[in-house]
This record gives sequence, structure tokens and C-alpha cells, in this order.
Amino acid sequence: MSEKREVRVRVAPSPTGDPHVGTAYVALFDYVFARHCGGKFVLRIEDTDRARSTPESEEAILRALRWVGLEWDEGPDVGGPYGPYRQSERAEIYREHAFELVRRGHAYPCFCTPERLAELRAAQIKAKEDPSYDSLCRRLPPEEAERRAQAGECHVVRLNVPDEGETVVHDRLRGDVAFRNALIDDQILLKSDGFPTYHLANVVDDHLMRISHVIRAEEWLSSTPKHVLLYQGFGWELPEWLHLPLLRNPDGSKISKRKQPVSIDYYRDIGILPEALRNFLALMGWSFGGDREKFSTEEMIEAFSWDRVTLGAPVFDMEKLAWLNGAYIRDLSPAELLARLREWRLGDDFLLRLIPLVRERIRRLDEFVPATTFFFAGDLDYAEAPPLAPKNQTPAEAAKMLTAALEILDAERDMDADALDARLRTLADEKGWKARELFMMLRIAITGRTVSPPLFETLRAVGREITRRRLRQAAALLKGS
Ligand code: GLU
Repeated sequence: MSEKREVRVRVAPSPTGDPHVGTAYVALFDYVFARHCGGKFVLRIEDTDRARSTPESEEAILRALRWVGLEWDEGPDVGGPYGPYRQSERAEIYREHAFELVRRGHAYPCFCTPERLAELRAAQIKAKEDPSYDSLCRRLPPEEAERRAQAGECHVVRLNVPDEGETVVHDRLRGDVAFRNALIDDQILLKSDGFPTYHLANVVDDHLMRISHVIRAEEWLSSTPKHVLLYQGFGWELPEWLHLPLLRNPDGSKISKRKQPVSIDYYRDIGILPEALRNFLALMGWSFGGDREKFSTEEMIEAFSWDRVTLGAPVFDMEKLAWLNGAYIRDLSPAELLARLREWRLGDDFLLRLIPLVRERIRRLDEFVPATTFFFAGDLDYAEAPPLAPKNQTPAEAAKMLTAALEILDAERDMDADALDARLRTLADEKGWKARELFMMLRIAITGRTVSPPLFETLRAVGREITRRRLRQAAALLKGS
């Protein structure tokens, strides 16, 4: 397909959690489109949310995207001509641009106090209106605003959204989508601490990094009119927008970790092959033509065209993924499959982690495999396992407890044994459980057994993602019983 501009696309994850399959899905379309057109694929880290962004999450996202097989041409780790590619290193650029927009009359400083905003919001909610800023500070004479800002009065910078008319987003996949300006809030662009919000940083970077096509999930469509206004305010050439259909849970809701695993690492740990995952994610938003479902990324790059994007509501169906993965497994020669199994969990590294855990517990070599099955399984069959809930607790109470333990595990990313031990003991105490009962329930949920190697070492070897999945499944089972 021929494009008017040099094709430069980007994926822009926020490093606030686990590497999400939705990021891989968008990155796949970026990657394929860039390769198809001989363009560039950029990875940018959007870490303006300073409270929630962590370097560990950034590292995990980069590692996971590489595992999926989506190499970027420019990014925080590989550099490139338009860096830095991490927003926290670009704060000054956003500040300058915010002031530039104020000078151009498309943004204004706002001095409203949090108290005033809270009152306004409460009044709007009471009057059954959608909460939004009433543009009070937009009406300040510019000299007064300038003087107060200069004097150091606490303020934010807001986008000056016209009251009348509408803003049209040209989406290459969806056509023109019009938004009434009256319904667009005067978005905060720069916070009082001088840091940008997503909208300002995202648009400034897309412009400065020469992004030609903004490919992202549908959930961002409602933000796009603000972005159009920003481009227009700066007098910049608009990129093309392409909002891909959002991945969904089987019940049609937006894919979420409460319903099914969303971390790329989970799919790696249960032995999904990266090429099968790429094929599966491609199918979520694109059709090869005919009824062909199995195709390589190379074939997709060759055949790619935006006309074949399907705008339905793609369901992330784990059965379908397993079916497709099976087809890829059958394509491998025995030696290749053995190599994949070794890369997965049958290599020396992983086995050497298990040996100290079970050495004291086996008397014969033939006991090794039975003693370690739960390290190699994805889901466990709890029907075969001892009862999960302690005798003195109802299944509903036990389910609540598992959910609370899961939250602790979510918070302790590196699964430090001492920290987990302390926090779980506190939890047991608070709920009037014996720590022993809680640990036993966790042990059964994670291993399917009452006897296993030490709990925390076991769950570290099982892995964070599979552990979380098992706790969630055990909790669901208890809730249902
Ligand atoms: N940082 C946003 C995210 O986490 C990027 C959205 C966009 O691509 O504009 O998805």
C-alpha cells in the first residue's frame, strides 16, 4: 500500500504493570505495517504517571515484546534519532510546548483550587450533569493570568476547547467520527508539579518523533478529539489515526485480568509459542482472506492491507489459542519440538532450580517426575485435589481469603519470601485465621497437594503468572461451590 508520508509508527506502553497482551496486539500491527511499507517501528515508554510507573515494569514489557518477536527500530534501549524515548526524560520539552500553546491562545493556566473543583463536581453530579471543568479561568484576562503564574501561584495548564462546533477525527478504519466540542472537557495538559498528562506528552512526542500513523486500541478514540485540537493548536500536520478493535473477554467486556490472564508472561509460561501468539493476535483484528487462519508473520507482512482489518469485537479465546498453538507444534520436527521444550521448562536452568526443592523428598529417581508435575502444568484439576477450604471456614470465606492473598502477590512483584510471609501472616491475623490454615490452602491451590516443597520457593518456581491463575481459579471454584 502506498502512503503519503514516510511510515513511522509507535507502540507507547505505560510501565505500570505486567506486559499486557493488548500491547503485543497493537505492537504486532505496528510492526507488520512498518515492515510492509519499509517504515520504522518505534517503542516509546509513557511513564508520566510517576506514582505508578516502575523500571521493573518497563523492563518486563521490553523483555516480553522481544519474546513475542516484535523488534523495534528505535526505543529507550536501542536509541534512535528522536530520543530520548522515555517520557520521564522529556519533561522540559512538554513544559515548553505547554507554554507555547498558551502563547498561541489554545491553552490557559488554571488556578482553581482542588476544593473549588470538588464543589463544582459535587454540584454537577447533584444536577445530574456529567462532571467537567466550567472553564472559569479561561475567562481571566491574559495579563492577570500571566502575572499570577509568574508570581508562583499554584496552577495547571488546560486545553482551550471551543464551546461551539465539533471536532472531527478522521480514522482510517472507522471513517469520520465527530465529537461535539461542548462535551469535550478543558483537559489538563500540564499538572501543577510541571509534569504533563498523557494527552500533551503523547501528542508532542508523536509529532517530534515524526509518527505518521497512530495505531492504538479503540478505547483511545474518545481521547482523540483532544489530540486533534492539540495538533491544530500547534499548527502541526495531523497523523493518520487507526483505532483497532479492543480485545474482549468471552462475555464481551474489555479484556481484564479479573476474567482471564492478560500478561504476556502467562502465555509464555504455559508454553504458547511466540509465532502462534502472533498469529492469534493477528486474527483478532485482521483476516488473511478466504477462511485461512494459520499464517506466519512474514506472510502477513507480505499480504498486509488495512482493508482487511475487521472491526468486530474480537474475543480472546484461550481454547482457540491452544488449538492454533497445537497446529504450530505439529509443524515442528521432533528435534525442534525438543528444543522448544528445553527453552520452556525442560532445560537445565529450570530443572536445576527444582532439584534442591525435591531432593530431600525423593528416594528413587522415578519419584522425581510425580513429585514435580505441578511445576509443569498450567491449570490444576482441583477435583482431584484435597479440599481447598479449611474445615472451619465456609467456601465463600476461603474464596475471599484467596482473593486477598492474590492482592498481596500482585503487590509483591518480586515475590520476596520474607515479605510474602509477613504480609500473609498479617492477613491471616486480621481475618482471624491461623497462618497455618492460610498457608495450607495456598499450598493446595498452587500444587494440588497438602505436602510440597517449601511454599514460597515453590511458587517462585511455578512462576508468578501461573500462581496467580491458580489462585484465581481456586477462588472461582470456591465461590461457585
Ligand atoms: N500510554 C498509552 C497506553 O498505555 C498509549 C496510548 C496510545 O497509543 O496513544 O496504552
